[in-house]
Amino acid sequence: MSSVGEAKDKTKDKTKASSLTYPFADIPAPGEAFEVAPGVYWLRMPMPIALDHINLWLLQDGDGWVIVDTGLNVPNIIAAWETLFTTFLKDAQINRIVVTHMHPDHLGLAGWLQDKTGAPLYITRTEYLMARTLVSDMPQKPPQAALDFYRAAGFTADNLAHYQKRFGMFGMAMHKMPDQYHRLQDGDSLTIGGSTWRVIIGTGHSPEHACLYNAEKKLFISGDQILPKITSIVSVYPTEPDANPLQDWLSSCAHLQDAFPNDVLVLPAHNTPFYGAHARLQALINGHEANNRRLLKLLTDPKRAVDVFPPLFKRKIDDSTLLMATGEALAHLHCLRARGQVAVTRDDHGVDWWQVTP
Ligand SMILES: [Zn+2]
Repeated sequence: MSSVGEAKDKTKDKTKASSLTYPFADIPAPGEAFEVAPGVYWLRMPMPIALDHINLWLLQDGDGWVIVDTGLNVPNIIAAWETLFTTFLKDAQINRIVVTHMHPDHLGLAGWLQDKTGAPLYITRTEYLMARTLVSDMPQKPPQAALDFYRAAGFTADNLAHYQKRFGMFGMAMHKMPDQYHRLQDGDSLTIGGSTWRVIIGTGHSPEHACLYNAEKKLFISGDQILPKITSIVSVYPTEPDANPLQDWLSSCAHLQDAFPNDVLVLPAHNTPFYGAHARLQALINGHEANNRRLLKLLTDPKRAVDVFPPLFKRKIDDSTLLMATGEALAHLHCLRARGQVAVTRDDHGVDWWQVTP
């Protein structure tokens, strides 16, 4: 599941997008560090998937450093870290490794960095435990419950075979995880370089995603909770087949608009740093609600999850995107079901049919 997170560029709200501003014209090369604010450095690592990069952050902490997010467990990111350690960091002490959430592009190299530096891992409890669970899935075959889940969504035998082949990818993108973590909770304060970073939790994209807000520096490290040009994936997975992550995501977007002022520089995990957080959050809410409305129009006749892709996604869904698209379609369907606007019936073949409620 290395591409879990975000692979679809489906920014639709052009007017809102134009209200964002991007203060930096340059992008750091792999192995370089670019100072975005005093003591705060931007790293960009290459990724071998559709989403071809991730941004990580280095925070100066006295004579040492705090790393925020770590990168996928792939050779070119490890090589970029090695370059950073010998050049920019000059083998200075790493005081903490902070990880926003469990996806392998963020958490993948936490164990490798810990082996190298001895630094402790800071992450929320749910993200840590969920990642440990997913890593342990690696050598196994998918459980029957997961096959039933995708059959109910309308997968063909071929689709199911493809899913079986992919199962356990999460673990492959991960270095062995640290055996211990230090818990981040909503409202916690981390003092780094004499400056306070407050932990703000978002949900919906991942179960307990930590963002870091620095009021003094007017900075917001958003992870995948706010991205300027990509809509983060919000998906239902077979582990929790009745989940309603879209409502969590919409509530988080609204909560974040109240949690910090609009004049922060957002440091996102993908794309580039930007101003305009509140407008972006509103555009994300509006985009999902517009998708909900389009879905309702389609569901005057019964449809399977795999039948509702056209109003949700601009691009054609193929084998490589089917799992993500299905998870996102279900997220919308579950949100509408929780609002009482659609109902679902399972047929004799174990397939779910969704339709607007009368
Ligand atoms: Zn993510």
